[in-house]
Amino acid sequence: MTPGFFQFCLPPRVPRDDVFYLPYWHVRGLAFTCANNTVRFRVVDTSRCAAELDFAPPTLGLRPQAMKLHFASSDQNAFFVSRRKEARDLLLQADAWQKIDSLSAREQVWLREFIGETCSCIYAPFYYKNKTYYDAVLDRPIHRIPINEKAPNLKGKRDPGRQISFIPAMCPQCGWDLSGDKETSVFICHNCDNVWDSETGKLKPIDCSVAETDEKDVLYVPFWRMQANIEGISLETYADLIRFSNLPKAVTSEFEQQRLSFWAPAFKIKPKLFLRLLQQLTILQPNPAESTHLKNLRLTPVSLSKKEAAESIKIALAELAVKKHLFFPQLENIHTNVTASRLVFLPFRQSGYDFVQCHCGFSLSRSAFKFGRKI
Ligand SMILES: [Zn+2]
Repeated sequence: MTPGFFQFCLPPRVPRDDVFYLPYWHVRGLAFTCANNTVRFRVVDTSRCAAELDFAPPTLGLRPQAMKLHFASSDQNAFFVSRRKEARDLLLQADAWQKIDSLSAREQVWLREFIGETCSCIYAPFYYKNKTYYDAVLDRPIHRIPINEKAPNLKGKRDPGRQISFIPAMCPQCGWDLSGDKETSVFICHNCDNVWDSETGKLKPIDCSVAETDEKDVLYVPFWRMQANIEGISLETYADLIRFSNLPKAVTSEFEQQRLSFWAPAFKIKPKLFLRLLQQLTILQPNPAESTHLKNLRLTPVSLSKKEAAESIKIALAELAVKKHLFFPQLENIHTNVTASRLVFLPFRQSGYDFVQCHCGFSLSRSAFKFGRKI
């Protein structure tokens, strides 16, 4: 998630001076659930009230899509109720997740994870009159306070607080313009070949390389290659992975020495494909010659941060485990700690409607990239 986020307001149906706004987190991203013995996934676009008040509707329903939003800013006639919870914590709660993934209450859930989420806060207007709360968008009563009870004191401010912080798009190394999407936390300098991460609000250099190929007219697609210490299971070498996933390969002394790297897409893609690439590349362990020259290459944008990729390691483990019924109950107690990560651009050649990876031969459809932009 980027530091800061956009804050929007839904307009009341009729302008009034006694309106107060309740905060809702609006989150889009990929949701993965390890339930029973499978890894499930879906694309999520959801909202959730962040104020913890009995009378507040739990979600905004279709309102963010159906109505015109405007930026929330300080207003003498408005009152913004404080948020009680952060978006991620709120959505990862069991009851919220049950709705997100339409799980039945009987299903045993071992892991809930959000990857590549974009998050904003939407303020919805309400007002209070004659011991009744009204939804000011619909101009309809939603909750009546019993005669012998008092309305709760709402805590909040006239000012909704800071908006997303924009990072100057200038290379700290050479002053050249940086390229990157507005939702991307990774920026590339095509002048000095440095790559920068803005996730913490400051630009920090990232280790980056390009897998070399002799092929012409290729498209370079970004992936995160990570090494991690995994507390709770022995998974340090490629030989460990062969045993963990029961891969059809003989364990050689070379594999016993080869440090295992986890690979994750560094771009948003359908969750089913994300999972496939996570598994496929971690099994394949590509090892082509690499360079650090980015100039004049066709690079696809990085839309998934290093931190998000690190969170996907547990999902990779769940998908790679051969004995899922034994492994899933341990997921909660397994901690992953990324010790090294590098952004690696892998070349793909176009073949009809597909892109084929030049070293490993697996393919991605052209539509896979288009879909990712909408998440
Ligand atoms: Zn530069």
